[in-house]
Amino acid sequence: MEKGQNLISGNWLNSKSEDIIHLTNPSDGDNFASIPRSDANDIDLAAKSARQAFEKHWSKTPAFERGKYLQKISYKINESIDELAFIESKDTGKPLKQSKVDAQVAARYFEFYAGAADKIHGEVIPSQYGINSFTKREPHGVTGHIIPWNYPLQMGSRTFAASLAAGNCIVIKPAEEACLSVLKIANFALESGLPPDVINIVTGYGEEIGPYLCKHSDIDHVCFTGSPEVGSIVQQNAALNNKSCTMELGGKSPHIVFSDCDLESAMPVILNSIIQNSGQTCSAGSRLLIDENVKEKFLSIFIDKFSKLMVGSAEMDLDMGPLISETQKNRVISFYNKSKDENIPILASGSISKNVSKNGYYVNPVLIGPVPVDSVLAKDEIFGPYLSMIPFSNEEEAISIANGTDYGLTAGVWTKDGSRQMRLANSLKCGQVFINCYGAGGGVEIPFGGMKKSGFGREKGMEGLKELTVCKTIVQKFN
Ligand code: NAD
Repeated sequence: MEKGQNLISGNWLNSKSEDIIHLTNPSDGDNFASIPRSDANDIDLAAKSARQAFEKHWSKTPAFERGKYLQKISYKINESIDELAFIESKDTGKPLKQSKVDAQVAARYFEFYAGAADKIHGEVIPSQYGINSFTKREPHGVTGHIIPWNYPLQMGSRTFAASLAAGNCIVIKPAEEACLSVLKIANFALESGLPPDVINIVTGYGEEIGPYLCKHSDIDHVCFTGSPEVGSIVQQNAALNNKSCTMELGGKSPHIVFSDCDLESAMPVILNSIIQNSGQTCSAGSRLLIDENVKEKFLSIFIDKFSKLMVGSAEMDLDMGPLISETQKNRVISFYNKSKDENIPILASGSISKNVSKNGYYVNPVLIGPVPVDSVLAKDEIFGPYLSMIPFSNEEEAISIANGTDYGLTAGVWTKDGSRQMRLANSLKCGQVFINCYGAGGGVEIPFGGMKKSGFGREKGMEGLKELTVCKTIVQKFN
């Protein structure tokens, strides 16, 4: 059985308690690896290691040197795409082709932030003669990172690379369901010569060690990606020491399809955005808002495409893999049952291959509708391959439905009308609006984050670096 370990001060360690957690392969339910079930002592060691690294040497390391380390890590990832994809697929169940893309995007994060490390600028502010005012952006010091199981490679890399580029030392708590690729990347970092105390990783159950990380006095800022419910707990614990947070939470993102759109190019993108990673994507396009004038034409083709979707194990590399766990499977099935209780018709569903293990966590992708706008199926994040079709009769109604959930992460707008594109982009209450496209292939360079219950703060791009630094103002009087 494979064995993951904590990384503290450059040493791979078991938890002091020697307790472990078994990792399960979602494709067949087998326990194939173990990781430490860490406790408060392990978090304490990791936080102290990061603090010492920051004070002793990392805060004095030139920005371009930080960038060089990141560049080397990106090379290592690029040389190991297949190996990383294999690990990610076994851990998360996602088809190998999807994991390969995740590994390529992970390399791009390190590459992007390698180049950005020495381009974090301040401003000179004009005030009066004899006063020189300027700002500089300084690292927080030590940042804590809590990451989810759905994209360990991508999410681990984006937060890890950006924080080191900004000049912080880090403590990462990956998800207990899937985290081996994050440990592998940390190993690449050590092999690349990154000073070993700069990056520290502690595995374990979120509810057991998460609060210690959030409260720890040696951690200055917390980056959290996960559910809004846990995000709220994280903020409450961080507030006990008045530290800042970045919150990347969930979504219930709409695709808004107008009758003048290019249906041929819209359909595969819309379809992919709900089945990618079996719908377990914060920015999944889980609501299909469709103009009554094109509904029949769109659905006649779309239902056919949807019905051909095939689900299988990660190695089968079909359209969709299993869900991450039994818990997640039961959650998604409970939504299937809710739609039955509400008599919402199933318009299309895919098929699960006959060759999959009975112990894997498989569900069928489903398209349902019309879904009433006040139904939980139109409002709640399901985090599964479940697409809710909601018709609209005019632009105003489309905007109102799109904004009618507690979430505000992303939206896709499908129309050829340039004025309409801009009216929607301005009216939608969400962090990213895609026009005649969706997702932007990982979108390493473009800021990402939510409004409302989807969170606050931004990751990705140069904007992400702002979250990982603080602005210091310096005012100098001269004669
Ligand atoms: P989750 O909130 O249950 O877990 C996320 C992380 O928080 C895990 O590492 C977990 O161990 C940890 N955690 C759990 N309890 C904790 C506590 N009390 N204190 C501190 N940490 C704790 O979420 P999940 O089930 O892993 O992921 C699904 C959710 O994440 C969905 O809502 C999804 O939309 C969201 N998500 C958002 C983004 C984004 O960028 N906006 C990306 C991926 C996932």
